[in-house]
Amino acid sequence: FTRKIQLERSLFTALEDQSLYLAYQPIIELQTQAVKGFEALLRWNHTALGSIPPDEFIPLAEEASLITPINNWVIIEACEQLAKWQQTIDPKLTMAINISPHQFQSDSFIRTLQHIVTERLVSPSSITLEMTENIAILQTQRTVERMHLIKSLGFRLSIDDFGTGYSSLQYLSAFPIDELKIDKVFIDGLATNDHALLDSIIQLGHNLELNLVAEGVETEHALNYLKTTSCQHMQGFIFSEPLSVQDVEKRFLTP
Ligand code: C2E
Ligand code: CA
Ligand code: CA
Repeated sequence: FTRKIQLERSLFTALEDQSLYLAYQPIIELQTQAVKGFEALLRWNHTALGSIPPDEFIPLAEEASLITPINNWVIIEACEQLAKWQQTIDPKLTMAINISPHQFQSDSFIRTLQHIVTERLVSPSSITLEMTENIAILQTQRTVERMHLIKSLGFRLSIDDFGTGYSSLQYLSAFPIDELKIDKVFIDGLATNDHALLDSIIQLGHNLELNLVAEGVETEHALNYLKTTSCQHMQGFIFSEPLSVQDVEKRFLTP
């Protein structure tokens, strides 16, 4: 009770006092081990309670209707950071940004995307918007139209946590998506030689000509297995945890 109220209260000032910030996890090309880009992950360093995981504070922000300014801040901040790193590290770098189902439906989200395009903050083709399969529950004409609108602005679309949510596969042909992120549970299965589902998902993605990213790769064993498949990218602690801006620059900015 007290923790929840305390958190909710401090969320109101979190954007101004800069206790909300983004961490960036590298996404790696499996065959070459080259850095393809980063995923922006929201962090909150609470003055009294320390770091609060996004799974805890994002639902709170949604309840307190603070999520819209936070979401829009995340998109702009991640795009500005990418623009800098394209100049200083590699012009081909990409950025993945998480979008919640509510956010996807909101008009301010579309306005933020339009702002990026008109102000030329960064090329939209280097931005991937990640959404979970739950978006498919709303498989209405409106959802499909909205996805086409986002695509027409030039952004890429990805399905996050693929294989863990909605069970129908029909949406894969209805939605104009570019990528599947294979959930960590399928990678974890490799530890017990359980790769039937992983193989099938990779085959499915390959047949649909989608880019594939394996998430939560922690072991050499999993990494070596993935290299034998047609999955193109991976992300996980074996290569790097989410990093601060300073740590990204320490590691990838060659002097
Ligand atoms: P997600 O999008 O599936 O993000 C991946 C999560 O897995 C991250 O947790 C990351 O730190 C963690 N991870 C990465 N590699 C490994 C690994 O090898 N092993 C393990 N055990 N974990 C790994 P994080 O940062 O706590 O984020 C949790 C979730 O919060 C995200 O899941 C995403 O759904 C949500 N989230 C984070 N940032 C944002 C945001 O800016 N906006 C929205 N709407 N949601 C966000
Ligand atoms: Ca994600
Ligand atoms: Ca995920």
